Amino acid sequence: MKAHSSSRPASRKWAVGLALAAIPLFGFDRGCVTQPQTDILVTSSSVNVQGYIHRFDDNTLQWQENMAGWAHLRVNGGGFMVWDQTDANNVWQQSGVPLSLGVNVLDGETWRATPNGNIVGSIDGFILERKNDLAANGSQPVFLDWSASGVDAELKAIATGTLNGPLTAAQQTAFVNDVKAGVASFFANAYAGTSITLASAPGIGVHTVKFLVGDTTKCNLLGKSPGDYKNTNKTQTSQVFVGVFRCMLVKKLVSTTPAELTDTLAMRVQDVATAIGRTAAHEAGHSFGLVSIGPTRLHGCEDSHNCEAYDDANPSDRFDVGHHIMDPGNKSQFYARIGQANPTTRATKKPYFERYGKSYLKIIHP
Ligand SMILES: [Zn+2]
Repeated sequence: MKAHSSSRPASRKWAVGLALAAIPLFGFDRGCVTQPQTDILVTSSSVNVQGYIHRFDDNTLQWQENMAGWAHLRVNGGGFMVWDQTDANNVWQQSGVPLSLGVNVLDGETWRATPNGNIVGSIDGFILERKNDLAANGSQPVFLDWSASGVDAELKAIATGTLNGPLTAAQQTAFVNDVKAGVASFFANAYAGTSITLASAPGIGVHTVKFLVGDTTKCNLLGKSPGDYKNTNKTQTSQVFVGVFRCMLVKKLVSTTPAELTDTLAMRVQDVATAIGRTAAHEAGHSFGLVSIGPTRLHGCEDSHNCEAYDDANPSDRFDVGHHIMDPGNKSQFYARIGQANPTTRATKKPYFERYGKSYLKIIHP
């Protein structure tokens, strides 16, 4: 017997009201979802969802330990499912939550009895998007091709142009090698959890990321690649323009990010490897199908990028000024590109594929 609704408070505003009145021992509850991840693509017609109940006071999570109670969900504003009582581990579960094709917004309520009365909490809206047009498409090897002439000189010019120096020839050579290794490491980490992995040679079925000098006169295009929803062609080439990084970084790095001319060489290796690695992952991402435009594809906009307008209008996490790898170029701040949280003080925040984009990659390249 799980129906407890008769003894629930009438609305969650009641509990929030008490929290605002700051009555001791009364906060408000919020249900969190631990499984599956929220804001992802799924291919099944129903899912099991589980989570915990957390207690907040004055908008602050008071106790990390989880609490016993009840929870239920609804899909797209429809009827609530049956209340589920949390188990011995304080986990609530809604089994077989039915998902329509397309975007489903799930939300719900929690309920908990306390010596001071019953507390209703909210499970904030979250997206599970069901698609039936995606299938596993094998693995995707990727070759990072640094062989073009002039690229090493541009990397050295980034080091000398953004540090007080002077840098010896040996230091500049080490910088080049360390940045290349850092780019490979960034790329592999960005695609972790998928079968998109680095290869040691080009070939049929291998995607190539070609590092070139680019148009340093215009100095506005960092990379280029063919869009390819569902990655139907695995033998494509993306381009990343290291010379354009050079002219942009020399102009903007110190003025728009926490980087300083007095930074260590090792710090600059991190900055530059992150920025170039992010663009390598970004351009390759386009050629794997990110972020294909429109509601039947991946809700991309602005030339197949993460869509800020969609993010603003939905309970999603699809755009963050460049911290997400597929954010649009013109909206990606340089401090985000070099893996910093803000423009003024160093605090690492590596660019990443958000859960939605990663879930797409995991479906097509599991
Ligand atoms: Zn792009």
